[in-house]
Amino acid sequence: MLRKLLFQQTPKAYRFLSTQSTLPLRNKGSVFSYCSSSQPEIPPSNSIEQLQDQPEKTISIDRSGLYNAPEHSHEPSTDSELVKHLKGIIKFRGGPISVAEYMEEVLTNPKAGFYINRDVFGAEGDFITSPEVSQMFGEMVGVWAMCLWEQMGQPKRVNLVELGPGRGTLMADLLRGASKFKIFMESLHIHMVECSPALQKLQHQKLKCMDEDSTTEGVDKMSRSTLAGTPVSWHATLEQVPTGLPTIIIAHEFYDALPVHQFQRGSRGWCEKMIDVTEASLFRFVLSPQPTPATLYLMKRCKWVVSEEVEKLNQIEVCPRAMDLTYTLAKRIGTDGGGALVIDYGLNGVVSDSLQAIRKHKFVNILDNPGSADLSAYVDFASIKHSAEEASDDVSVHGPITQSQFLGSLRINFRVEALLQNCKDEQAESLRTGYWRLVGDGEAPFWEGPEEQAPIGMGTRYMAMAIVNKKQGIPIPFQ
Ligand code: SAH
Repeated sequence: MLRKLLFQQTPKAYRFLSTQSTLPLRNKGSVFSYCSSSQPEIPPSNSIEQLQDQPEKTISIDRSGLYNAPEHSHEPSTDSELVKHLKGIIKFRGGPISVAEYMEEVLTNPKAGFYINRDVFGAEGDFITSPEVSQMFGEMVGVWAMCLWEQMGQPKRVNLVELGPGRGTLMADLLRGASKFKIFMESLHIHMVECSPALQKLQHQKLKCMDEDSTTEGVDKMSRSTLAGTPVSWHATLEQVPTGLPTIIIAHEFYDALPVHQFQRGSRGWCEKMIDVTEASLFRFVLSPQPTPATLYLMKRCKWVVSEEVEKLNQIEVCPRAMDLTYTLAKRIGTDGGGALVIDYGLNGVVSDSLQAIRKHKFVNILDNPGSADLSAYVDFASIKHSAEEASDDVSVHGPITQSQFLGSLRINFRVEALLQNCKDEQAESLRTGYWRLVGDGEAPFWEGPEEQAPIGMGTRYMAMAIVNKKQGIPIPFQ
């Protein structure tokens, strides 16, 4: 999530950034063997493999104590609600939870999840995203949406869906930028897919929404954005967005927040990395003693790559939620028409070990005070492509291309020039910096402030991919 960093990271943090495994081949015999209880070297079923700094060292731990609860009476009373909740799940289940379950609870637990009760964005928050860097980002995404709408034959009614809209900045800039294009604006019904009530409220404010009684059957409340006179509705999931209309879907930095399962290659084959609680009431990683349900997704993911790619890796991350979401989204686009734009940081191939935690613009330990730091993982664009193609023969997938190519082809340079002609000196400075951050690469060459605060370019770390109904042809700027 270099992407999300406002400032340059410490050298220690950089070690986390080069997370793609470069370890030499370990298991030449079989490309892919699963952690299986039929293999002779497996430990007894009531023991788990603990992950330590040196992965070769494993110890067996008697897990039966986890079934006898009161051990936790020495639990520190300073535990947050979320920490108590996580420990409760582990305790009552009598065993560790997957990294994905941990990530989901940490980010979106309805009472205490990281996103649920607060605004985590910007310099005062934990991380910054492209729409918060510059208004030009939302405007360019708006240009993309309008071009697609034209390719769709200018339908009179369109659902414009944003997945995980954060503060609502991207959508506000998109609407302001597109407000002159009356026919496009009049066609839109905006659907914000957001699980956080606090962020829904912020989005409502950002879009300057007024609530009104709905005229649509089954919807009792509706809002209208006074920025552009467009109806706006909120939903917790994509499935809740009504079907039956051509749809344009935007997912910026949404996929990276979806929970990932982590697998590690060991003597027993591939085992899932899990999270447990020690006797001293601390979280720690362990390996699952037997195959887990998520192994099915690992097998599916690995079918989509050549075996040499898997052979190189000792760790693999899979994101079933991303695969399932893409399937749903592609089916919808295949049936209703339209397209989706996914922009995120990630790889166009299998991701090894990218999960990271960021608090106040600094990398922290994933297990440290969960709920107080953002967790995110690299997006596996290749798996999105395969999931979309599997879902529907009526969609085509384009990209990924870098954010710099995407914005450059949409002529962001013309936009920055136009804005620079009508602004004050201090605004010019922030426009230039914002422009560079969106399309630049590495450390900002013009930076004269403290080295550790030098802005980092998002131009090549972030990638854009489009999934469109084949009827529309190839979307701009993926030709
Ligand atoms: N797109 C925004 C915010 C990215 S952060 C930007 O670029 O600034 C991720 C966003 O997705 C947040 O709004 C978060 O609350 C939301 N989110 C995360 N997981 C979600 C889920 N499972 N369902 C719905 N929204 C989710």
